[in-house]
Amino acid sequence: MNHASNRLLKSFRLRSTPTRQEILHLFLKKEYALSHSDIESEIDEDIDRVTVYRTLKTFNDRGLIHKVLDDAGTLKYALCSEACSATQHSHEHVHFKCVQCGQTNCLDVEIPTVKLPEGYKAREVNLLVQGTCQNCS
Ligand SMILES: [Zn+2]
Ligand SMILES: [Zn+2]
Ligand SMILES: [Zn+2]
Repeated sequence: MNHASNRLLKSFRLRSTPTRQEILHLFLKKEYALSHSDIESEIDEDIDRVTVYRTLKTFNDRGLIHKVLDDAGTLKYALCSEACSATQHSHEHVHFKCVQCGQTNCLDVEIPTVKLPEGYKAREVNLLVQGTCQNCS
């Protein structure tokens, strides 16, 4: 059925289950970041919240998807485009939230280096730009 998602699961050495296939298929199909409720409203209603949560955690831990922080504090996820792995997510790109359609996308734009005062160490940098996207402007 979902060949692309099956192949992806395989290449990340993840066992292929119907739930994993379905959720991954959704990420491949949609071109924007997905929140828990986005996913829940699209997938088979037999799949419970906990399973969705666990699946997303597994995907994130393995480097298939990454977290996208939205302005309202909503956590969304998007597919990783670069070679991310279970040990590290290797991309620091800008995320863009469209105020018209509400979709958040990964942009192929690198986050500028942030100079921190002495004694501060960055662990993670998130940059969310808000505005209107290509489709809406
Ligand atoms: Zn990643
Ligand atoms: Zn838009
Ligand atoms: Zn991203």
